[in-house]
Amino acid sequence: MSQKPKKLIDNKGIRTDGRKLDELKPIKIQVDVLANADGSAYVEQGKTKVLAAVYGPHEAHPRHLAQPDRAVFRCRYHMAPFSVEERKRPAPSRREIELSKVIRQAIDPSVFLEYYPRTLIDLFMEVLQADGGTRCTSITAASLALADAGVPMRDMVAACAAGKVEEHLVLDLNDTEDKEGTADVPIAFMPNMNAVTLLQMDGMLTIEEFEQVVNLAIGGCKKIHALQKEALKAKYVTVKEEEEEG
Ligand code: ADP
Repeated sequence: MSQKPKKLIDNKGIRTDGRKLDELKPIKIQVDVLANADGSAYVEQGKTKVLAAVYGPHEAHPRHLAQPDRAVFRCRYHMAPFSVEERKRPAPSRREIELSKVIRQAIDPSVFLEYYPRTLIDLFMEVLQADGGTRCTSITAASLALADAGVPMRDMVAACAAGKVEEHLVLDLNDTEDKEGTADVPIAFMPNMNAVTLLQMDGMLTIEEFEQVVNLAIGGCKKIHALQKEALKAKYVTVKEEEEEG
């Protein structure tokens, strides 16, 4: 007897991980988590866990990489071998090379690169555990790490995907929804500038659905941006307390 496939969204609009259609995965953020990086951040978005670290701005080596009028921004997005169910080969895959470039383009407009000519800024993102949306969580963590490093920025970039699963438009897809759903639209957004810095789309949507999905994702980015700001402020409260104690 053939079994009916399990539904990803039940009759009440509840998803497999218990979330409502427009609900983000639970988010935990911590900045300044690594002693040896100039800036760092750790973000958990549901089961997706990403660590980001910034080195720089530092002198450009090799020298020929330097630009006379701006800092050169380099990004590496990497998935740890243990981040997915089956061990991932540690060498960078084509997907990781592409995502490194896409993430660099999403963060680049937020940074005043012209303040640091002839230097390099290196950004490393390590996905420790993947459950969908790793490019978005990496962007959110990377922008926090840059802020933690004190790099001057126009705004922090927050990122979040929305998409379509079983005829429903949903926010912040998990891995199963990403793989079995109809469409996934990751977006990176700078709320203070009202500017989208990344917009990709995988799957099929009508124009009306696309507009709704973009608005849903931007709403998610705004909520994440508020959490980014809270996490940065929390760091300075801790620093102040430590100073008062010591
Ligand atoms: P994103 O993580 O930004 O959604 P993709 O759409 O490429 O990027 O990937 C969707 C999800 O598929 C990832 O978040 C992860 O959970 C899973 N995934 C990606 N690469 C692998 C891999 N090499 N092995 C197993 N799962 C993977």
